[in-house]
Amino acid sequence: MKSFILLIAVTCLVGVHANAVQEPNVIVIVADDLGYADTGFQGSTDIETPHLDELAKSGVRFTSGYSSHPFCSPMRAGFISGRYQQRFGYEINVPYDPHNGFIGLPKNERTIAQRLKVAGHRTAIIGKWHLGASSGHHPLARGFDFHFGFLGGGHDYFDVDLTRPMREGYLSPLEKNGRPTPLDGYLTDVFSTAAVDYIKQNRKKPFFLYLAYNAPHTPMQAPDFWLEKYAAIEDTKRRTYAAMVSTLDAGVGRVLKTLNDLDLREKTVVFFVSDNGGPEHANASDNAPLRGQKGDVYEGGIRVPFLMSWPGVIEGNRTYPHPVNTIDVACTALALAGVEIEDDPTLDGLNLLPHVTSEKKEAPHEALFWRKTNGEAWAVRSGKWKLLRPSADEPSALYDLNADIAEYTNLAEENPEVVARLEGLFDAWNADNELTTQLGFRDYHKELQGFYKDLKWDDSE
Ligand code: CA
Repeated sequence: MKSFILLIAVTCLVGVHANAVQEPNVIVIVADDLGYADTGFQGSTDIETPHLDELAKSGVRFTSGYSSHPFCSPMRAGFISGRYQQRFGYEINVPYDPHNGFIGLPKNERTIAQRLKVAGHRTAIIGKWHLGASSGHHPLARGFDFHFGFLGGGHDYFDVDLTRPMREGYLSPLEKNGRPTPLDGYLTDVFSTAAVDYIKQNRKKPFFLYLAYNAPHTPMQAPDFWLEKYAAIEDTKRRTYAAMVSTLDAGVGRVLKTLNDLDLREKTVVFFVSDNGGPEHANASDNAPLRGQKGDVYEGGIRVPFLMSWPGVIEGNRTYPHPVNTIDVACTALALAGVEIEDDPTLDGLNLLPHVTSEKKEAPHEALFWRKTNGEAWAVRSGKWKLLRPSADEPSALYDLNADIAEYTNLAEENPEVVARLEGLFDAWNADNELTTQLGFRDYHKELQGFYKDLKWDDSE
């Protein structure tokens, strides 16, 4: 039965796109805390990203592409499960703690890696995990058959220190398939090299590669080569940030070159997104012209650079206007592997391919939703309208994003019927969501009151 469904799905795909290759590879490249304005294809004038710009040119740039959460760990929980992370009460950044079996992606959530593996794909994660560090939360226990990277929310770019207590996040072990491995080089380059090697070694079977760079997240550290290139940028933090972004860009260039060299480019769908908006003060990123930054449900926290490329199938040099989110990236990967997603109530995303090929003309979603801190802050976008409550202390406000991308003019008073409709959509979406204190987090909070009471909570991750 399963193979029959798979055959139907693949047949549909090939039927629509005569040149499509069955079951392409999927590479999802995620930047960490990248500002909305900080790549060439988003209009940056001081940071050069020729390889990301080439990627943008080869495919579609989503002008209303969103992260499912304004900070790291919950976004990754949504992406890796293909569901809004509030479905299972996941709204906090989990600390790095390999001895804590409670905290992390709930073990009863199925990851897209688990689903892709069943569909016959090899599955790899290179880079940052941030979904729990115990053995039960480890990527190798969550559907990945290759892991190279670190398990916490951030990492030093030059050092690993295995003599530190295991809860030290930024100097935590770098691991390859469960074994500590030395860091030889600048971390972003090391991840790029690992991605290139992985592609070379797995060129013959379909693979899913989740390349989760931690750049340009703090700590602000960059290689001299790029710091010298950016000597003209006076602000040292911005200079370092630019160098970190360009190192990431160079890595994307190496990945694309490898695909080209191996004749895999038209057999591989490549996505690029940031996991959330730039934290402008922490890393000197720039979210212009958006309001707010990482942590906010304003556009600056959630609208991100967002690309999809599949030469030969998706026409290049295009923009796509309707709102989409990172959960759709996960579900597109599943659909391309022949996994049935449309009738699966546990998935919230959809296949973006028929939308970007114009096979489907309508907007993919009636609305997109965000919820933070159990609803103290939330947002809903439907068409051009966005209703948001920025914090527990502020009233909700309505913005017309087509006319006012900077969310400057609150139109709630003039449009009570729109406010009521969007509130209704949000309430319906939120009705079955879990609170963050439930599931594993409830147990974790109990632990926090006792043994872990001295654990430092770092929301900057
Ligand atoms: Ca982040």
